[in-house]
Amino acid sequence: MAKKLQDPPATTTINCSRCGKMVSSPVPAGTIVRAFIECPECVEKQGEPKPGKQWGDHKVTVNPLKPSLALLVKIGSAVVHADEFMGPTGHPLDKTAFDDLMRNAELQTWLSDLTEKGYLPVRR
Ligand SMILES: [Zn+2]
Repeated sequence: MAKKLQDPPATTTINCSRCGKMVSSPVPAGTIVRAFIECPECVEKQGEPKPGKQWGDHKVTVNPLKPSLALLVKIGSAVVHADEFMGPTGHPLDKTAFDDLMRNAELQTWLSDLTEKGYLPVRR
């Protein structure tokens, strides 16, 4: 009979979405938090979230780590156009399409949010 492995109690913590600081006691690993969490320090720094705060061209509060489907489609399209443009059959229209996507306010907001968090290379 196969030996039953005793897993150590798998836990994780819920962390601040802004600074990553732990904000909860241990919770079961795999706990999914579909929310933007802030630690007291970040709340103090940011102030209370204001309804209708401007994020790009959308008047909603967006967690940059949970982009909307619409934003994901823009990101994916930008990658496809950039890849096509750089490929052997690249066409100036691919560059135009890419530039149009890059001018999108929602995409720009998302890029600067991620850069701020240190997830993206800092531009030269
Ligand atoms: Zn924080």
